[in-house]
Amino acid sequence: MWTDDTNQDRVVLIDAGPDLRAQAIRAGLMRCDAIFFTHNHVDHMFGLDEVRRFNAVQRTPIEIIADEHTMASLRRVYQHIFERERNVNDSFVASLIPNTLPEREIEAGVAIIRWGMSFTPIRLLHGRLPVLGWRIEKAGSTGVPEYRSTEGQRVTDESPSVLRYSGTSVLPLAYCTDTSAIPTESWARLRGLRTLVLDCLRERKHPTHLTIDEAVNIAAEIDANQTYFIHMSHELPHEATNARLPANMQLAHDGLLLEDALTA
Ligand SMILES: [Zn+2]
Ligand SMILES: [Zn+2]
Repeated sequence: MWTDDTNQDRVVLIDAGPDLRAQAIRAGLMRCDAIFFTHNHVDHMFGLDEVRRFNAVQRTPIEIIADEHTMASLRRVYQHIFERERNVNDSFVASLIPNTLPEREIEAGVAIIRWGMSFTPIRLLHGRLPVLGWRIEKAGSTGVPEYRSTEGQRVTDESPSVLRYSGTSVLPLAYCTDTSAIPTESWARLRGLRTLVLDCLRERKHPTHLTIDEAVNIAAEIDANQTYFIHMSHELPHEATNARLPANMQLAHDGLLLEDALTA
């Protein structure tokens, strides 16, 4: 959540899990401007139906951004939203603007700029399934030099919207859930992070998620100021696990709030 140049609050979500409604109420979210999807698994997309309430409150459609594979699943599962003209009754369904990312733009790392914030897709592997991580930073702030905005302009530090970070910054932040490997070409997009949010399932090997040892090794290589592990199973006791992790790597928890102090 942030406030844009026109003083409008903006809220974007990463994924729409089955408990989206409960999470939105707990977090006090009053709107939803866009949803960036990572992949098509049930625990990441089966809450999309709930966002219709945001449509009703804010009276605008919600953009959903996903790769081709995930968007195909969304269209299949949520046929009543995407093909509402086929519904028997003219029911109240979510109003969405689907934005399918072409593979070549994902490969090129073309950032999606929305309301002054930049979202760059990062290809990750979830077992054999290619999924997306997201690098989030203020548009025109740091970035990787060759990144371009969706308008095709180079995003440089000369950009008029450049902001400076104060001491307690969390951006750039990369959100990498449901990961078992990071392809070689994706490492460049994980450089210079202040915050890494990374998959970490459990101690034992798993075909589609990172073990805690694998996650710690990858986090050490990426070397963000702070790493938060997510998507843990109940096999990792919270306090005991945190106690043996390096100080700049911790298990996240439900309701964890990271605040970024931005000054123009
Ligand atoms: Zn998954
Ligand atoms: Zn998952």
